Amino acid sequence: MSKEQDIESRRRFLKVAAGTTAAAVVMGSLPRFARAADLPALSESDPTAKALGYVEDATKTANAKHKAGDDCTNCQFYSGGPTGRGPCQLFPGKSVNAKGWCVSHTPKKA
Ligand code: SF4
Repeated sequence: MSKEQDIESRRRFLKVAAGTTAAAVVMGSLPRFARAADLPALSESDPTAKALGYVEDATKTANAKHKAGDDCTNCQFYSGGPTGRGPCQLFPGKSVNAKGWCVSHTPKKA
């Protein structure tokens, strides 16, 4: 192999390697999004949910600790969007309702 051929072959290798790395970064980020959306819904009858007074609709709770306007979307343990469902650090592997609430509600830091 001539020196020019050797340099050309290295260039091609580096191009392929860079493309593969970019693809791996994209692929690596996809399953995380998919998992967050696919988490099974937390049931109000789940023992931990019951213990923490979790409700799917914050406006329907009769718990005296609930303050008007508090729901999962403004709780620091929630990492989902403003609607639908999302993960809560207190219920790993499950999704909570964005409009849900439980006694562990802690306002998000501004
Ligand atoms: S800890 Fe916060 S995000 Fe989790 S269920 Fe309770 S209120 Fe919702």
